[in-house]
Amino acid sequence: MLLHFIFVIKEKDLDKRKTEYEYVKQMAQFYKSWIKQHFSKDFEIKTDEMITSPRSIFQRLDTHTLFTDHQARGKDIYHFYLCHFRPIWTDCPCEGYHAENFSMVWWQEPKNKDDILFLAENNCTIVSHELAHEILRQIKHKNFIEDVHDVWTQHIHNNLPFEQYGKNFKKTSEEPMFLALDISSFQL
Ligand SMILES: [Zn+2]
Repeated sequence: MLLHFIFVIKEKDLDKRKTEYEYVKQMAQFYKSWIKQHFSKDFEIKTDEMITSPRSIFQRLDTHTLFTDHQARGKDIYHFYLCHFRPIWTDCPCEGYHAENFSMVWWQEPKNKDDILFLAENNCTIVSHELAHEILRQIKHKNFIEDVHDVWTQHIHNNLPFEQYGKNFKKTSEEPMFLALDISSFQL
């Protein structure tokens, strides 16, 4: 099965967000390893950029536009959109949304393009939230919404640390490159 990450980027930002896209490519490989390790599921990984041109206010890009794009690309493929806009509606207590074989998150741009920790803290964490929903749904885990939201609350409000991973995708106590949901409490 294919998991396809799509970095949605404004045409005018193409050059200045190159470093972020390099991070996205590494993060995609990290999640391949994370999913295999925690959920015993093998995904092929693909990463792409989707370049958007300026639109009028009546043609705003939104979740619906992305969902249509997902269906046109093939709804058997799991498409994960990393976007420069927020989901218009979501059940999640973060800026992400998911449906069958479909996820999107609001990907925040760091002030300093080399700020890997910012990317890990603000973006990578939300990606793991939405991935966890969808992978749990695929492996027919009953509480694929509640379990993720329970642990998310622990992370955000009760000081449960996110799991820290280094460049080699192994756990680290040094400054992390990737931060992911602690799913050790799930009954898998
Ligand atoms: Zn959620």
